[in-house]
Amino acid sequence: CGIIARIGHGNAAEPLLSGLENLEYRGYDSAGIAVQNGSGVKVHKCSGEVSRLKSKLDTQPHGNMGIGHTRWSTHGPPTDENAHPHTDTAGDVAVVHNGVIDNYEELKASLRSDGHEFESDTDTEVIPHLIDEYRAETGDTERAVRRAVDVLEGSYAIAAIVDGEEAVYAARKGSPLVLGLDDDEWYLASDVPAFLERTEDVIYLEDGDLVVLDPDAYRITDLDGNPVERAVDTVDWDP
Ligand code: GLU
Repeated sequence: CGIIARIGHGNAAEPLLSGLENLEYRGYDSAGIAVQNGSGVKVHKCSGEVSRLKSKLDTQPHGNMGIGHTRWSTHGPPTDENAHPHTDTAGDVAVVHNGVIDNYEELKASLRSDGHEFESDTDTEVIPHLIDEYRAETGDTERAVRRAVDVLEGSYAIAAIVDGEEAVYAARKGSPLVLGLDDDEWYLASDVPAFLERTEDVIYLEDGDLVVLDPDAYRITDLDGNPVERAVDTVDWDP
């Protein structure tokens, strides 16, 4: 199980897919990516291996930013519907998640009563719905992500993309997440091998960190929105 995100110039699908292949050693039962290219968030996902996902893509999805996931199911069997990324009802917010959300049943019940429709058995699916709900209330995605992770109990490394926004939002608590800094692209992943072919400059994120990436900058804050400084490390092992 692992997550990856990439934003920068040029196409995201290839680095996302090769990044997922580089995370295969972590073990998984399903794989998926979501890319965004100005005409919506497009999700491609299925049970099985990354090679199966690749063989189902007739053309390389187009877009300079996206997220990807290899799943080790904890809630719901390894089916196409339960594979990540998961989205909100309208399909505007896509999320990948590594970890377990302990209070997902009560969150799901309350979101359902507010009109949200669910398609999977996973604990994860509440996260894009929460972000969507809080975006509608605040009009601000970063605040919405902060509020969403605030109500989550359990463990998570998440990455999210939103229709019409050139940004990746991410946060972690109890699951690993590392930021990779290349000249003209940023990565987030559960582990360094996901992007080591592309950059050796990394920031190991800590619990409570929230990251916003756009094509030209990265920003790390705590859950109250205060800026956080994290040192850049250089990884000195071979891919
Ligand atoms: N709990 C989530 C699920 O079952 C994420 C599992 C994972 O970390 O891969 O879908």
